[in-house]
Amino acid sequence: MTANTRTIPAHQVKAGDTVLGTVITTPGGTTCDDLNADPYTAAPVPNDPDCGCPGHDALTDEDKAGDVVVLTTGYPYDCCDAMPADTPVIIAAPAEPTPRPNVAKARTPKATRATAKTPLPRFCRDFRGAYGFTHGDRYCVASRNPGAPELWDVHNETGGIHQPLASRRTTRAQAVRDAIARLDGDDSAVSGADLLAEILSF
Ligand SMILES: [Zn+2]
Repeated sequence: MTANTRTIPAHQVKAGDTVLGTVITTPGGTTCDDLNADPYTAAPVPNDPDCGCPGHDALTDEDKAGDVVVLTTGYPYDCCDAMPADTPVIIAAPAEPTPRPNVAKARTPKATRATAKTPLPRFCRDFRGAYGFTHGDRYCVASRNPGAPELWDVHNETGGIHQPLASRRTTRAQAVRDAIARLDGDDSAVSGADLLAEILSF
């Protein structure tokens, strides 16, 4: 993180700030940084309680009872990033270099693959950085790899079946694209880590 990185309440985030993540307090009272796999440029809009998008649906009744702010309505979730106004948000102000170039670099090697053009599904934020989405009749969850939290996994969770689809990808977007390709019958992106995850799941 740069010297310009700081943690501020969500309602103080300004348009142009780079949103790097949030600080989470666990039930035990300790805090940890929940960093976004895809840092984005804040474009706050007034909260619409009747919005009904997955980002708004993910708010608890307790969240909705208080002041809610919306930091973006588009990239990277394709819906609102809505949160309580006092949520601690980790940002970098625009004058400093942001992590965006690194994210782009990490994606470059796979950018030529056909799956890179797959539009990402709408996400519904669940808990501690896990994201649910549907593909056809499948419900899938993208989450950080438990053994390597800087990497992302995707599982098919339809009908109580826990089926690994993509394991240990650099970005959430890549994990989701590879998982969707696999659900669509394209196994070209299947890695050794995926096969190992599959074996260990039985
Ligand atoms: Zn919304």
